[in-house]
Amino acid sequence: MAHTTRLPSPVAAHWDWQRSAACRGMDLEGFFHPFAERGPEWRRREQRAKQVCDGCPVRTECLEHSLRIEEPYGVWGGVGERERNELIRRQRAARRPRGRGFMRSVGARDPRAASSPGARC
Ligand code: SF4
Repeated sequence: MAHTTRLPSPVAAHWDWQRSAACRGMDLEGFFHPFAERGPEWRRREQRAKQVCDGCPVRTECLEHSLRIEEPYGVWGGVGERERNELIRRQRAARRPRGRGFMRSVGARDPRAASSPGARC
């Protein structure tokens, strides 16, 4: 019998949470900024969208999804674009391999140094 535990789950399972979304069926314009919207209009629109998210039963799933796909636009899970882009930036930094400074601090030799042109001279 074939092992199926390592296969990806059905695509529909990834989107099931959207069936319970508080914004389902709503006009989503309030969740995404129109071109050239700035300042108080931006803040008011985002605040209204976040109020919808406040009562949403799938807020966590929504935010997790937006972070997983690194969604740059709109309000997702009660988090606006600027806040989410900061979370995405931190998420990327946490995943980034540590640099030469870390290698030195743990006393390891940086393998990139041996192959650099300067190392041969
Ligand atoms: S958290 Fe907000 S954007 Fe996400 S599904 Fe719920 S209402 Fe919609």
